[in-house]
Amino acid sequence: MTHRVTLIPGDGIGPELAEATRRVLDESGVSFTWEVVDAGEAVMAQYGTPLPDHVLESIRRNRVALKGPITTPVGVGFRSVNVTLRQALGLYANVRPARSMKGLDSRYQDVDLVIVRENTEDLYAGIEHMVGRDAAESIKIITREASERIARYAFDYAVANGRRTVTAVHKANIMKLSDGLFLESCRTVAAEYEGRVEFQDRIVDNMCMQLVQKPEQYDMLVAPNLYGDIISDLAAGLVGGLGVAPGANIGLEAAVFEPVHGSAPKYAGLNKANPTALLLSGVLMLRHLGEQAAADRVETAVRDVIAEGRDVTYDLGGKAGTSDMADAIIGRLRSGSASPS
Ligand code: NAD
Repeated sequence: MTHRVTLIPGDGIGPELAEATRRVLDESGVSFTWEVVDAGEAVMAQYGTPLPDHVLESIRRNRVALKGPITTPVGVGFRSVNVTLRQALGLYANVRPARSMKGLDSRYQDVDLVIVRENTEDLYAGIEHMVGRDAAESIKIITREASERIARYAFDYAVANGRRTVTAVHKANIMKLSDGLFLESCRTVAAEYEGRVEFQDRIVDNMCMQLVQKPEQYDMLVAPNLYGDIISDLAAGLVGGLGVAPGANIGLEAAVFEPVHGSAPKYAGLNKANPTALLLSGVLMLRHLGEQAAADRVETAVRDVIAEGRDVTYDLGGKAGTSDMADAIIGRLRSGSASPS
């Protein structure tokens, strides 16, 4: 069977990472037809928007997309393409695994976290306005429906993937209504899974400290949008940095897989950036498509190349370029020498 997938290379380092990832996934044993569509800075002049309608239509049609990072101008201009995509396609769950890998220079060797971030509301709803000339107001939206939906996603994921504990992250001691509603919704859903998945909660500031000091004690985290965004970068830092952190945005009608990192403009076109985060996003996509064996093969080949430490990019202490690292991973796949993880 051939999978038809929308491929959005993105801005900055995106195109070179997308090319490397496409080459590796084409060696995974799974057949893909890539529908390549451009979004971001590159298409602004041509379409007058960074997110032309045909990009959304392509994702709606194929139901699955692999996406490179897209630049968001700070403070001015268009809203983030990434946030708009998630809202337009109802991609309500952002799933970001952070797992230690042999060969990565990090403080911990035994981190295995999955962060489930609510993706559609909170302060990212984009409801902001000036109050007079010298004050600005941003409105934080938390609903029972979205909070219960994300909690249910986290618990279902825990059951399906044999995870033991879900920790809800909040600041309900201060934001008693909004974060209070999020916490209450998580507790309601947790009760349905009693005996199968354990539940606990942490205040977000304490959560950050705990993650820095003893990340191995945590399993899955579920958080509203803003805390989830911050905590997933923190977790990426615990296991080797942004260059190796993948992500998935899941909705009822479509799924978009993308790295946690951004477009890193200063490295654009230099064949320097690490392709691992987009590649591992591709592994999450393979799993979503039901291609478990191919996903295992690619993940193992990536892990082996990183463990060996020779053909890795600058951020992992190596000298290899983006394309060299992809070549080394392809070499592993072709020789069938990827050891089981
Ligand atoms: P960034 O993630 O692009 O880069 C921060 C630093 O992390 C880089 O300077 C680099 O040192 C390192 N880095 C990131 N990815 C790497 C990789 N693959 N290999 C090696 N090193 C890597 O963050 P930023 O500079 O804050 O953001 C740049 C742009 O990307 C902004 O416009 C931002 O809005 C956008 N962004 C997009 C997404 C997305 O598309 N989902 C996510 C985050 C940021």
